[in-house]
Amino acid sequence: MSLLAEDTEAADLGLRWKPGFAALGPAFLTELRPTPLPDPYWVGRSEAVARQLGLPAGWHESGATLAALTGSLPVAGTRPFATVYSGHQFGVWAGQLGDGRAIMLGETEGGLEVQLKGAGRTPYSRGGDGRAVLRSSIREFLCSEAMHGLGIPTTRALCVTGSDAPVYREEIESAAVVTRVAPSFVRFGHFEHFAANQRNDELRALADYVIDRYYPACRNTERFGGNAYAAFLEAVSERTAALLAQWQAVGFCHGVMNTDNMSILGLTIDYGPFQFLDGFDPRHICNHSDTSGRYAFNQQPNVAYWNLFCLAQALLPLIGDQEVAVTALESYKTVFPNEFEGRMRAKLGLPEAAEGDRALIEGVLKLLAAGKVDYTIFWRRLSNYMADGNLEPVRDLFLDRPGFDAWLLSFSQRHAAADRARAAELMRRSNPKFVLRNHLGQQAIEASQQKDHSGVAVLLALLQTPFEEHPGADAYAGFPPDWASTIEISCSS
Ligand code: AMP
Ligand code: MG
Repeated sequence: MSLLAEDTEAADLGLRWKPGFAALGPAFLTELRPTPLPDPYWVGRSEAVARQLGLPAGWHESGATLAALTGSLPVAGTRPFATVYSGHQFGVWAGQLGDGRAIMLGETEGGLEVQLKGAGRTPYSRGGDGRAVLRSSIREFLCSEAMHGLGIPTTRALCVTGSDAPVYREEIESAAVVTRVAPSFVRFGHFEHFAANQRNDELRALADYVIDRYYPACRNTERFGGNAYAAFLEAVSERTAALLAQWQAVGFCHGVMNTDNMSILGLTIDYGPFQFLDGFDPRHICNHSDTSGRYAFNQQPNVAYWNLFCLAQALLPLIGDQEVAVTALESYKTVFPNEFEGRMRAKLGLPEAAEGDRALIEGVLKLLAAGKVDYTIFWRRLSNYMADGNLEPVRDLFLDRPGFDAWLLSFSQRHAAADRARAAELMRRSNPKFVLRNHLGQQAIEASQQKDHSGVAVLLALLQTPFEEHPGADAYAGFPPDWASTIEISCSS
């Protein structure tokens, strides 16, 4: 029986819904209702996501929509649920986790799942309160849209809605909900869950569902003797490799790459203590709780591979042969470096590969690391130099001038025969002017906590088109202030 059967009132968002993931049945989820947040208000909205969802114009004007997105009204046509998954956290098997505070409304006819993150306790909340604080919700909202603006696969965020209801963390904070949107929120951990519990029928049903919906080419593959599950593992591994290449090229540190935070679609998912690097430090650890540096910036590609091994282990009963499973992961080792090199070449304004490119890339990364040079500013200034020939703003970033000059010589030689204007164009499309630095997020958050949400909107507009110049917004593209390094962000949010 529908949980909504007795409802007399529901908010009609103007969307049509289909069963989607819920069709897998009760072994995979628990139907439940969000817990209402009192006196909700809007904090931020992404019209781009609203359009993608197909929401009608003026969708946010109705109080019923605001109430529905903060759990006070059901959404017409939906039967909300929380899904069950397990995972490895910080390298250790953590057992069952599940959506502790993300409540899925359902899937739209257009094929997008919609979740309310922070909408209350679920059977998978363990000790948690099922809430998300305003601070981390703004960070997730802005970063989802920033990643999309950068062309990096990610879950999206329609909006953040807040409430003055208290949430108890290290201090008392206020509550918020992020309405998240993605083709699928399935994680590696969903597969690990059923494998660990030796529930092979469910494991197979889940794999079949994900393959049929999102990886249909794996059905007609000749790879691995037509083994669709092995082909699926290989496809996930390649998408993950491509994602990691993008993270590393843009200087994004995720912070909590547990297997339950790994999307089966190769999307960036679960924004917690993430950080875009300021000064380039390959060993940077952005998560205050990550005392061993397991998820340090330069560890991410290896961690993703480790996580893919966990997925392979989980899929083994379906793949049927350990050697085949291991072979399905092999291409990660070529896809990641190829993709990374391609991304870095684009940052250098080089559309085609040539011998010596790897040395050029490694050379500049070494210089940046040695001088802890601001990663985003360096690349943008190098792009501008290509356009206007003014070298000083780039050179000024380095204390080791001879080192930089030597590198620049090889860079210039590599570009000797190139059309500089075209190279500059490629560089400006590959090197963002705006990234969501911690201090920018923090300023918007502090204003929002005082009920001024304009900073969220301003940042959103810049981050959605981060390669544009945005005249007048240079203050958002500058060096971080000294206090930025004192911001401590941990898993608790
Ligand atoms: P995360 O560290 O955010 O990836 O979360 C790990 C697990 O803890 C997931 O199952 C989350 O749904 C759950 N979780 C995190 N925070 C809370 C919370 N405040 N209340 C309930 N569950 C939570
Ligand atoms: Mg998570």
